[in-house]
Amino acid sequence: MLSHVELCVSDLDRSAEFWDWLLRLLGYQALQSWAHGRSWQLNGFYLVLVQTADAHVGASYHRKRTGLNHLAFTAHNRDQVDEVTQALRERGGRVLYEDRHPHAGGPGHYAVFFEDPDRIKVELVAPSEAAEDGRDDGVKVQRQGR
Ligand SMILES: [Zn+2]
Repeated sequence: MLSHVELCVSDLDRSAEFWDWLLRLLGYQALQSWAHGRSWQLNGFYLVLVQTADAHVGASYHRKRTGLNHLAFTAHNRDQVDEVTQALRERGGRVLYEDRHPHAGGPGHYAVFFEDPDRIKVELVAPSEAAEDGRDDGVKVQRQGR
């Protein structure tokens, strides 16, 4: 299990507003706040944002370069994916892969993909329906999205 993830962000206030919105929807609580950082936690995991130092802020992030491509969070269920998708749209956010939403990750993969203010890709994915039902027969998963 991951302990924590720390992201350097180009504009701490802008990113903190976005991540606070998202993480609270997912049940996280604010953990720490200091001049150059913020953190939120849930179930022993915490996410940290740190202001990128002036010497490095000019080098922008791109997920196709070596390094982090995206961060994926597990939703409670498909309804939560839908709720976050709607909330994202209401705040003017853009859903990535809109033409294939919510199955951009594959037929049995129910998720929403979007970007943080630095264009770090974020995914919120529902557990498979078989897992939600406490079953693992695979049949229902294969039927999804067809
Ligand atoms: Zn993913």
